[in-house]
Amino acid sequence: LLSPVLVLFSCMREIKNNPAADDIDLKVKELVSQMTLEEKAGQMTQVTLDLLTEGISPEKSNEPLVLDTAILKEAFGKYKIGSVLNAANNRARDRETWNRLIGRIQEYALAHSRLKIPVIYGLDMIHGASYVAEATLFPQQIGMAATWNPGLISRAGEITAYESRAAGCPWTFSPVMDLGSDPRWPRQWETFGEDPLLASAMGSALISGLQGSSNDPGDVRHIAACLKHYLGYSQPVSGKDRTPALIPMSVLREYHLPAFRKGVESGAMAVMVNSGEINGTPVHASHELITGLLKEELGFKGLVVSDWQDIEFLHTRHKVAASHKEAVKIAVNAGIDMSMVPYNFRFADYVVELAGEGEIPMSRIDDAVSRILRVKYLLGLFDRPVTKQSDYPGFASADFACDARRTALESITLLKNEGDVLPLPADAKILVCGPAANNMRPLLGGWSYSWQGNLVNEFTEGYSTIYEAIRDLSSVPGHIELLEGVIYSDTGEFRNERKRKPDQLAGKAAKADYIVICAGENSYTEFSGNDTGLDLSDNQQELIRIAASTGKPVILVLVQGRPRIIRTVEPLAKAILNAYLPGNYGGEALARILFGETNPSGKLPYTYPKYSYSLEPYYHKHTEVLKIKGVPRGTAAEPQYPFGFGLSYSRFVYRELKPDKKEYHPGETVRISVKLQNNSGREGMETVQVFVSDHYASLTPPVKRLRAFSKVMLQPGETRTVNLEFPVNDLAFVNQNNKLILEKGDFTLSAGGLSQTITVTETRVLEGKAKQGDPD
Ligand code: BGC
Repeated sequence: LLSPVLVLFSCMREIKNNPAADDIDLKVKELVSQMTLEEKAGQMTQVTLDLLTEGISPEKSNEPLVLDTAILKEAFGKYKIGSVLNAANNRARDRETWNRLIGRIQEYALAHSRLKIPVIYGLDMIHGASYVAEATLFPQQIGMAATWNPGLISRAGEITAYESRAAGCPWTFSPVMDLGSDPRWPRQWETFGEDPLLASAMGSALISGLQGSSNDPGDVRHIAACLKHYLGYSQPVSGKDRTPALIPMSVLREYHLPAFRKGVESGAMAVMVNSGEINGTPVHASHELITGLLKEELGFKGLVVSDWQDIEFLHTRHKVAASHKEAVKIAVNAGIDMSMVPYNFRFADYVVELAGEGEIPMSRIDDAVSRILRVKYLLGLFDRPVTKQSDYPGFASADFACDARRTALESITLLKNEGDVLPLPADAKILVCGPAANNMRPLLGGWSYSWQGNLVNEFTEGYSTIYEAIRDLSSVPGHIELLEGVIYSDTGEFRNERKRKPDQLAGKAAKADYIVICAGENSYTEFSGNDTGLDLSDNQQELIRIAASTGKPVILVLVQGRPRIIRTVEPLAKAILNAYLPGNYGGEALARILFGETNPSGKLPYTYPKYSYSLEPYYHKHTEVLKIKGVPRGTAAEPQYPFGFGLSYSRFVYRELKPDKKEYHPGETVRISVKLQNNSGREGMETVQVFVSDHYASLTPPVKRLRAFSKVMLQPGETRTVNLEFPVNDLAFVNQNNKLILEKGDFTLSAGGLSQTITVTETRVLEGKAKQGDPD
């Protein structure tokens, strides 16, 4: 049905040089030349499904959706709307309902379109086709990143695309390419973590799976990806979602841009814009970032969509436009092609007026419409506007489940294993506790069936919670007991939690050999995760203390979107597993790892902080670490666990780290080999990570940067030479003039505790226009 599990990820398509794409460009040109201004403005408008449905009350939300004919007439008869998104109470529907609904909208739109232009429907299909009941749900992106296995993530993309198309949806607002470098920001779990290289590799893999590589408009098994939220969304000063950021251009380019650049190179068809402001300019108003950097410099050919209501917010929230109409002018002229409106048709009216007044050039409107139509052609929507869900027999198949399970298994990260307490014997007597022990919601996280994920329990029958999975895998099911001690609210706000009989823990523990505590945080999306501190909740810390006071070994399983601070309870746990938000198969995956049926191989995609006032990523500056007499005293040097960390039940030994040369010129490739031995009786996987430190640079260098990685499987006792490489030019950095510059000098490579120093022989400016009067 689909290609094998380990799909090699690659930069898949360059739309520009593709003959089919040339053909599409001609068709687009021809079509645009026949369109009226009103038709063009309609194409640029995206409304929410809620506007098109007869006010569905939450009580009626399980019923099939009913489209409101009067509004449909207005949307397609009058306004010729080009796109619809989400939502209808933001909840999942089965695939037949979605398919019928999107098909109905499509047919209605086509019947009212003089030029037979199809609608493009977009949904947040995050970690699987998350708006579709029964879809295969994978770990959230943060867990995907923890696998360090791009092949698995490409496969997750393929399955997401297949199941989305089965529901009639050809476009997902995914992947998130923002850097997850600040755990205060409540969307860190939606990212691939803090590192630009890891995020680039994982994002590229997901895009290749979602979009496929055939570039054939007859291919109805893939969907359009959307890189979001361009650019610098993840680092607001306050840590709160959609609040102002202050980020110098050199930092934007050095850290935030690479994943987007990689996404553009990987052929992503759409980009969504950051709702926030950077240095006082809302990104939706930034010609410099949208047209200058994204479209002109990176050569992005796809469509740029606003985020939710964000053009109007230039007027009502950001206050850079004195009216909604002025906001439309600023945003469209900045380079936004489609407005996620989403509740009315005023945007289309204003575009028509502004074009008539000469305030938006027709060339800008034609460019926007061409980009939108091009994506519609690439997706085959003109030829096959409607898909039949029955054409997708593989939906939610056992094969897909197997891939989701494997992704969860490879994401789970073993952070501590004192005295090799794990794996547990199959007949162990285990008391399973904590708010994530018997609840699917925290395993799935936000956007699941959908948005806050607070309705998951309606859709998760047949999947195992952690407790159920441990019970099912135990060789003596009567040996497993549940006492939650603390519970999350199923349906309410994420921070609601209550104690439930923690006082009975000590009594029950008397019969157990081990206590497994499933702690962390409940699911949330966007703003709602803003308002708590970072510490693991008091209730949950207390539970861990009670458990430890029994003297039984405590195993802490963390189910969380971001790293909750565990400093004071960490010493009380003999073993710690970080599960992130592992999806529907997270319970099973955890049970298999606890009992040793699978050897853990995940590694942290972020720095796990120890103190809430010390949240530096691993690529912090040397001066962020206070040294007294050469001994580090700063807390940045002392995270709870470093970026890239993760243990295994195997023991890996590194030897003979060797670069192929001592000296490198710009443009060459650094080839590195290292001997890796599995010094244990268990087969296991290890991710070799190569970090590089620049000794001296004209802009203070970070302590180190990840430059290459490779995940390998080793048999018991096996020794293998692992080869890795990266272009010398990757050692360049963006300087204060925003130029990418490679500076000569010494660089130390390190992997697995070994290090070697190499020299770059020559300084060279690799990219960037010199400013006037620039001494370079
Ligand atoms: C979010 C986006 C999402 C969009 C559509 C916004 O609130 O920021 O990530 O794609 O809604 O649901």
